[in-house]
Amino acid sequence: MDVEKIARKHALINAVKFNGKASLKSVIGKVMAEFKGEAKEIIKIIKEVVEEVNKLSLEEQKEEIKKLGIRIDEGKKKREIKLPPLPNAKKGEVVTRFPPEPNGYLHIGHAKAAIIDYEYAKMYDGIFILRFDDTNPLNEKKEFYEAQKEDLKWLGVEWDKEYRTSDNIPKHYELAKEMIEKGCAYICTCREEEIRKNRRLGKECACRNRKEQPWDEFFKMKEGEAVIRLKGDMKSPNTAMRDPILFRIIDYPHPIHGKRFRVWPTYDFYGAIEDSLSGVTHPFRTKEYELRDKVYFYILNCLNLRKPNLMEFSRLAIKGMPVSKRKLKPLIEKGFVMGWDDPRLPTLRGLKRRGILPDAIKEFVLSQGISKAESVVAFENLEAINRKMLDEVSRRFFFVSEPIKLFVENAPEKEVALKYHPSIDMGKRKIKTNGNFYISSEDAKNLEKGKKFRLKDLYNVIVKNKNDMILGSFAGEKLMDVPKIQWVSDEFIKVKVIIAMPPFKNGLFNPDSLKIIEGYAEKNLKNVKNGEIVQFERFGFVKIEKNGSIVGILTHK
Ligand code: ATP
Ligand code: MG
Repeated sequence: MDVEKIARKHALINAVKFNGKASLKSVIGKVMAEFKGEAKEIIKIIKEVVEEVNKLSLEEQKEEIKKLGIRIDEGKKKREIKLPPLPNAKKGEVVTRFPPEPNGYLHIGHAKAAIIDYEYAKMYDGIFILRFDDTNPLNEKKEFYEAQKEDLKWLGVEWDKEYRTSDNIPKHYELAKEMIEKGCAYICTCREEEIRKNRRLGKECACRNRKEQPWDEFFKMKEGEAVIRLKGDMKSPNTAMRDPILFRIIDYPHPIHGKRFRVWPTYDFYGAIEDSLSGVTHPFRTKEYELRDKVYFYILNCLNLRKPNLMEFSRLAIKGMPVSKRKLKPLIEKGFVMGWDDPRLPTLRGLKRRGILPDAIKEFVLSQGISKAESVVAFENLEAINRKMLDEVSRRFFFVSEPIKLFVENAPEKEVALKYHPSIDMGKRKIKTNGNFYISSEDAKNLEKGKKFRLKDLYNVIVKNKNDMILGSFAGEKLMDVPKIQWVSDEFIKVKVIIAMPPFKNGLFNPDSLKIIEGYAEKNLKNVKNGEIVQFERFGFVKIEKNGSIVGILTHK
């Protein structure tokens, strides 16, 4: 019947556009526009058709639509996220930098900074510098320099120049001396508590106004005996300006320089100096440094150095996740998690292990933009972007979690060839069946005696009995309006799936944040490469780890 056909077409189009559910109202509108006749009668038909279409899975809807020769643009147009223009920026003259401290593995917050810096350099045909801010020998480790570079490469971030701040320490000494000579800095031998107390009270100390500054002596002093401080303003309402420390003594071997230096600059000092000397035009920092901008420019002014366009954006925070090395480190050191690549963590290694694609991270951080508004983002936002990307590239497999045995009487022996992907040609895999199957306990729960269901892409079964296992009987091959469930034949492989949940609950580490479930996958999973991300139909996307046994890590549903 004509109405039915037209209604079905519109129902399918509407359903696929809206994630599998067509709206009766829109379909009626579309059909009425196309078909003139008995309104009441037509609406009745449309209603039936919409109900039928909505019972199909999104994949089945897509398949049918393809058969009708209709092409739908599902809003898949690649959304290129544009960053706003930079102030005072000219093509070919922009220089940005990403300055990680090699004291841990990079996380998604670093990805935000690195990607924004890198994208701006690209946007302006400029230069992007990777700078290791390695000026605290207590924290830096050799392994992290290489690891951070590997992670950036994985993200697709490429740099034009690379250097270590620690290589410029002699230059920093020269400039510190100049600042002291110009009266913008001084050597302070007050104890730490006294410095703190004076800051609180807004009180200057005697060291500040000493005529002869003990420069040579300073380099021979012991750790904790003296520091170099900015001669700021001890009464400034901006406490960052109350004579911040610029250099301190740290007697600890540096992973690159060994014992060559004992006097190390603080971020206030080297941050400003390095941005200026390396030619950076648009350095970004996270918003919590805003109050320190004054210190930054004070130093550059004193030394007559070029002043960059300092910019700020908000620190990326994700609900239930530690987006900071400071919070990540204890989890690893105390053995709460498996390591830096634990799939619960927002480290780039953790995200990679879980099956989050670098392009999804890029789209996610760019969608956050460079706003200064602080917000805690849900991990689900990243998952949604990743899901769209994975959907188009991952092969489908059958997997049943917590399997329940199903025996089908009078089952024909079959060999079926199933598509790896419902709408993209990725080839087919074969599965042989006799009467022995396993289905997930979740699906088994919904079955009861007398109920019919369909083993997906195979045939229908009617339940004859249900106890620890299910006894069914073959009920024909014709497509029927019954629940469709995934299955594995008796040629299955055991798979453990790791499910990662947010590691923090109410601000504390949640020891139950990792769950393992057992299941059976069709034997074709053997052909999957180590590291491939597949979709276990109606279960979720899973990254496969193969070393001896097969373990899956749930990327997300
Ligand atoms: P962490 O606590 O993770 O060590 P950090 O800022 O001390 O944070 P660095 O290695 O010093 O880490 O940071 C390198 C760059 O990455 C800096 O420019 C910093 O602003 C940026 N960055 C770090 N964490 C985040 C975050 N959560 N969101 C956005 N940018 C970040
Ligand atoms: Mg830091």
